[in-house]
Amino acid sequence: MTLQTWVPVPEGSDFPIQNLPYGVFTPRHGGGPRVGVAIGEQVLDLSAIWAGTPLGADLATGSLNRFLRRGPGEWAYVRERVTNLLSTEEQRPLVEANLHRLDQVTLHLPVEVADYVDFYASEQHATNLGRIFRPDGEALLPNWKHLPVGYHGRAGTVVVSGTGIRRPSGQRKAPGDAAPVFGPSVRLDIEAEMGFVVGAGSALGESVGVDDFADHVFGAVLLNDWSARDIQAWEYVPLGPFLGKSFATSISPWVVPLAALEAARVATPAQRPEPLPYLAEKQGWGLDLRMSVELNGQLVSRPPYAGMYWSPAQMLAHMTVNGASLRTGDLYGSGTVSGPAADQRGSLIELTWNGRDPITLADGSTRTFLEDGDTVTLRATAPGADGVRIGFGEVTGTIV
Ligand code: MN
Repeated sequence: MTLQTWVPVPEGSDFPIQNLPYGVFTPRHGGGPRVGVAIGEQVLDLSAIWAGTPLGADLATGSLNRFLRRGPGEWAYVRERVTNLLSTEEQRPLVEANLHRLDQVTLHLPVEVADYVDFYASEQHATNLGRIFRPDGEALLPNWKHLPVGYHGRAGTVVVSGTGIRRPSGQRKAPGDAAPVFGPSVRLDIEAEMGFVVGAGSALGESVGVDDFADHVFGAVLLNDWSARDIQAWEYVPLGPFLGKSFATSISPWVVPLAALEAARVATPAQRPEPLPYLAEKQGWGLDLRMSVELNGQLVSRPPYAGMYWSPAQMLAHMTVNGASLRTGDLYGSGTVSGPAADQRGSLIELTWNGRDPITLADGSTRTFLEDGDTVTLRATAPGADGVRIGFGEVTGTIV
């Protein structure tokens, strides 16, 4: 039987009762930030539902962190209780009194980000970038199929959807130039990714097993890893991405809990050579997410997440295998999601093949990289329980 809610949910909404993503909001008419769950075109104020309890206090704050720190048992309890409140008449007056229309609230960065790591888990993306940057060498470097390659990014510059993105300045040096120059990036790009939010931490010195993913990771967000390709190309050897990435990373305001993604689980593509035992999953955490990339409102790509070579559980196991601890609020990105087809690439450098094949927009203008005033919006949907479709909302940003 399909679970139903008495809250009106428009056909095609990202937020049916099978989803129930978490965010932090402030009502427009006043009051402080608090944790809520999206349902249809509304958000339920969870701090009001649990008012007067320790849980309610943990929900009456400006981030999900205090709730996340309570751990997977409490995440399951709250989800079950909210599902019950929205699907039965039991406490309908209380619930109705604490529903806010989404167009009457301000959404905030949902998580106080602790550490931020970005991976590189799409074979197609890694291969495309290898071909672009090393046309005479092997597209994939020797380590790529043995471990999820990643780097540490800048947690303090993770921003919520809608935040303006200031074009970064920095050093760049084209291959033919004699010396570097300084100035605004002229090759500003996006990376369409999913991000994973750690809820429950781990002890320093201990690793997290690949099958313990759901004991630590709470849920997933849309993530745009803004990238200045010219700054990146000059600075990244030999220590990896630095200022070409650290100026801003945007995430969606809604965190979709793993509990809502069970129906989206799929096996990762066949992994050959077989990964080392610490990366071998019993039941894969590949995810059948369909993403989209819009540039100034025009669909330019549909990256399929299901083709990602490494699963987020493998990324977590790798990230902690050396004993590095996890903290509540840690965020890690999947890496750019690119599929095999030309219209499935998750970055402009791939879509335009390093600027060689510009994109033509509806107004007749062309793009290789982003211009000031351009707006990029990422979305994703997934199969949910009961055969319904759930969505992640959007992450959007405009270059200012
Ligand atoms: Mn990235």
